[in-house]
Amino acid sequence: MDDLAYGTRDKRGHWRPNEPLDVAPILVWPWSLSKFLKWLPGYFYPYNIVFIAIACLFWFYLTPSKDSMQTLGWGWVLWIFVRNAASILILFGALELRLYIRRRQGGHFKYNPKFPAEQPSDAFFFKNQNVDNALRTFGSGVPIWTVWEVLMLHAWANGWGPWTLFGDSPFWLIGFGLMIPIIHEVHFYCIHRLIHVPVLYKWVHSVHHNSINPSPWSSLSMHPVEHLIYWSDTLIHLILPSHPLLLLYHFQVNSTGAVIGHIGFDKIETGADSGVDTHAFGHYLHHKYFEVNYADGTIPIDKWFGTWHDGTPEGDRLMKERFQRKKARRTSPPEDAG
Ligand SMILES: [Zn+2]
Ligand SMILES: [Zn+2]
Repeated sequence: MDDLAYGTRDKRGHWRPNEPLDVAPILVWPWSLSKFLKWLPGYFYPYNIVFIAIACLFWFYLTPSKDSMQTLGWGWVLWIFVRNAASILILFGALELRLYIRRRQGGHFKYNPKFPAEQPSDAFFFKNQNVDNALRTFGSGVPIWTVWEVLMLHAWANGWGPWTLFGDSPFWLIGFGLMIPIIHEVHFYCIHRLIHVPVLYKWVHSVHHNSINPSPWSSLSMHPVEHLIYWSDTLIHLILPSHPLLLLYHFQVNSTGAVIGHIGFDKIETGADSGVDTHAFGHYLHHKYFEVNYADGTIPIDKWFGTWHDGTPEGDRLMKERFQRKKARRTSPPEDAG
């Protein structure tokens, strides 16, 4: 595919799409049914369909019995860890292999012309972004995700919380399931703003931002404190009536789903004239410019708070103006109290 038919590449080789990023037409005014219907398939395809399928696979075939999960024991806890680690290794690994190791489409549709393997940096363990990201993913990310999942499944197995059955509340559970990516995004926005507070940024969130040029391994490469709060959105299943299949879907959305913003390519080419949109550009801009696009635009929170960047030169201009205003506020002398 010719990526220059879809975007432009600047002198330094950075590619950006021609079409400005837009927020989902859910909470925008004037509301348009035709825009909503045009957007809706992209809410499911490609990602959420995959996450639902993996959640079903996990629930029906790869989750221990309710009886065994009533008591905490190393056997089933380790099984869940291995199953989660394997899913990340296979899914993130497949993307890495295709796009970053075999480089099947070269730099086509790649936002940043460089590949992380070519950029050693002291910011990373062993000066290597891929090794650092993988160590953090499997060393603290997957273990902490597993602890959250184990505690939630243990609560379900013991009947702690308002758990229900599909036969008893089908419409509620389907509606709740449809909302899970949005619930995750709102929660992520809140904790994300929190860890951008300078002291927490320096101590915690800078670890994730070391990957200015992210690849799939960057998705769950975070400080353990960020890992600890990252999965806390699943506590909602102890507040609202839920089913463990929805819980496992939620863990797919917030675990495997973290890869969406870190693919580094705008399309994954599937043939000479075909490709799948990744929806990675919004979060790529967050990694590039830090103080834009804290959420992913399903809910227009960044627009409401003035931090939205649509990826265009006009978006660059608005961002620079905002940064200058912020700098001026910081450097201006304090108001005269008298
Ligand atoms: Zn990120
Ligand atoms: Zn951030």
